Amino acid sequence: LPVLLCDGKTVDYTGGIRGEVIMTHSVHKKFFSDKANCRNAANGLMKRKDGEGCEKLTLITYDAFASDGKQPFSDEEEKILWLNRCGFTVVPLKICTAPQEVIDYRASVMDIRKTLEYDIDGLVVKERTIRYEDAARARPDRQIAFKFSLEEAVSVLRKVEWSINGGTYTPVAVFDEVLLNGTTVQRASLANPDTMRALGVKIGCKVVVVKRGEIIPKIETAIHENSGTESEIPVPEKCEVCGSALSDEGSRLFCPNKNCGKRILHQLLKWVNVVDIRDLGESLVEALFKSGRVRCISDFYTLTTAELTPFFLNEESIAAEKKSLGAEKVIKSIKSRVNMSLSVFVAGFDIEGIGESSCEKLVAAGYDTLDKLLSMTEEQAAAVYGFADIMAHIAVEGLKENAEEMKSLASGTITIIAAAEGLFSGKTFCFTGELVSMKRADAEQIVRSLGGSCKSSVTKDLSYLVTNDTESGSSKNKKAAQFGIPVITEKEFLSLAGK
Ligand SMILES: [Zn+2]
Repeated sequence: LPVLLCDGKTVDYTGGIRGEVIMTHSVHKKFFSDKANCRNAANGLMKRKDGEGCEKLTLITYDAFASDGKQPFSDEEEKILWLNRCGFTVVPLKICTAPQEVIDYRASVMDIRKTLEYDIDGLVVKERTIRYEDAARARPDRQIAFKFSLEEAVSVLRKVEWSINGGTYTPVAVFDEVLLNGTTVQRASLANPDTMRALGVKIGCKVVVVKRGEIIPKIETAIHENSGTESEIPVPEKCEVCGSALSDEGSRLFCPNKNCGKRILHQLLKWVNVVDIRDLGESLVEALFKSGRVRCISDFYTLTTAELTPFFLNEESIAAEKKSLGAEKVIKSIKSRVNMSLSVFVAGFDIEGIGESSCEKLVAAGYDTLDKLLSMTEEQAAAVYGFADIMAHIAVEGLKENAEEMKSLASGTITIIAAAEGLFSGKTFCFTGELVSMKRADAEQIVRSLGGSCKSSVTKDLSYLVTNDTESGSSKNKKAAQFGIPVITEKEFLSLAGK
């Protein structure tokens, strides 16, 4: 399109402009003082389908890319000047020639941060030369965010709760409510017993709370002013679910009973998610587990339509010998997912530390059959790139614990196939919403043909969420934002796939 420049001339430009939508402090104060901060207020306006209020937002641009290859600038500085000439509001630009200059500049911006017209949380440091190949990556290598120190608040730790995920017990600090980045926070994960002990937190002590990425609260340090009123944090000794004595390995507190109800259900749900059995929803898995019919992964594969029917139809319909389409669909889904790569197979067993991508590393290191994986020693696993000693220990223990069922599943029920080698090896994709150029099944086929795998939900180990509505407030988009997972469009997906 011809773009009218401020000086009255026009240039031909076909391509994209990238920027961030912000709300200035003055607009926030004048119109949206009921909203906690500019970010929340801007988000609210962005989600409106009717566009009302969008004139109160500002677009600050920082990137441009001509899709026909005719870039009207030759480096990052010219790019910003060009955007400015085209009439866009641009980010301030500073050319630095040494690392210390960058550090000094950051310090000077931090000093004036509170007086700026809009909120910023850091700088982006880029190489001056433009490298399109790098820019095309979902996470470019040649530009990094250099964030400011976070906003802090001081509170008092009142108690520690233990959240149970599978067999693992995670300490969660509960402190007096404090205001951070405009929202109140009261809880923060302490990760594991070792982290908790290293922080030196005690009940009744003061804690400094920050928000990581301005979203997830974290306790930064503990302050002991009046140790007379402080008390040690009790660590649970018995599993709440099955009563077994918990194992405290420092980096992990967990229930060692592999028949513990919570662990089994967690494993069943994980299997369904990793292997991607559609139509077998969480509540159905829970109901099957509670009924006692499904107590291990193998049990899924012996289910019949008749057994599932009562979960879909009432007694009257069953008496009338009605068929349940839902039950049939579930059985079909289960049967359609019996061929899988070794990484998917092993990741489905919910062994802490062995997700698809870490299993991929073991496979790449030569442990490429189930037998080889099961006979791997802790020392061998620790020697694999990306496997720290702790992870190697947990991995080998977990494999041992599940060896019997793995072997039994792999001898008849499940066929382990060599993963396609390719661009998407070890990558996972989740598609949501409608695609324009193809059906979802075809897109998923592309992923698999390049060695990747597809997921029907957003979990923290997902590589990409693909949607043409990247700004929608859907729960998948929100989850992706929460986990920091890149959200890409269909077009970006195709370009990643080299199509
Ligand atoms: Zn237990």
